[in-house]
Amino acid sequence: MNKEQYLGVKVSPLNYEEIIDDIKSRMQAGEQSTIIAVNPEKVMTASQNAELLDLINNSTYQIPDGVGILLASKLKGGNIRSRVTGVDMMERLIRFASEEGRKVFLYGAKEEVVTEAKRKLEETYPSLMISGYENGYVKDHDALVEKINASEAELLFVAMGSPRQELWIREHMPKLNVKVFQGVGGSFDVFSGRVKRAPAFFQKLGLEWLYRLIKDPKRLKRQMNLPRFLLKVLFSKGS
Ligand code: UDP
Repeated sequence: MNKEQYLGVKVSPLNYEEIIDDIKSRMQAGEQSTIIAVNPEKVMTASQNAELLDLINNSTYQIPDGVGILLASKLKGGNIRSRVTGVDMMERLIRFASEEGRKVFLYGAKEEVVTEAKRKLEETYPSLMISGYENGYVKDHDALVEKINASEAELLFVAMGSPRQELWIREHMPKLNVKVFQGVGGSFDVFSGRVKRAPAFFQKLGLEWLYRLIKDPKRLKRQMNLPRFLLKVLFSKGS
């Protein structure tokens, strides 16, 4: 897989199906895989933070979440043409797990959020096996590692916000028998139904950011990072 690079941050060019296929063969080979969502804000932070840069670049798949990465790829003649969002990637993996009878563990968010997300996912995918869950506020991480291993989960979704969730994954993955790790931010809030995604119309046009801006104009300051990011990419050397 030929990864693209923006301000030193790697981005995987694979789409959902290609990632699932690749993960299947890595699972067969007994390899662990990590998925991290990349957006312009994270790239900007990582370009000035060696630890975050290392964390992102050493993940197996850096998925192009955020329309800004697509624009950057276009500007630099790259091949990334569609977004791979964290929440959609998680849902594809959930579908894959339910079809292949692979067990799943959910870790993160508030107790009532993670239990509701679990319930709703099991309702949507009746053959899905969520063999365990934990809220994102437990203190005893050794006990948690044991609990996850005892659940025999092969896929673990960690929803504690970035980069906390990715740091947790990196620290604990050597002790875990899990094969696929994804940091999913606020996705349990979405699956539980507490947070609504933008209507399909906005999503299709890549305008989720506009929908969020209309709903919460305070986001403008954060969103000003996008033009700044694109300018930096445009004037950076290489791709
Ligand atoms: N969260 C958690 N443990 C913590 C802090 C946060 O489980 O110690 C959860 C929080 O309840 C929420 C999720 O992390 O469900 C995502 O948080 P946030 O919106 O800050 O992350 P983002 O999606 O912006 O990366």
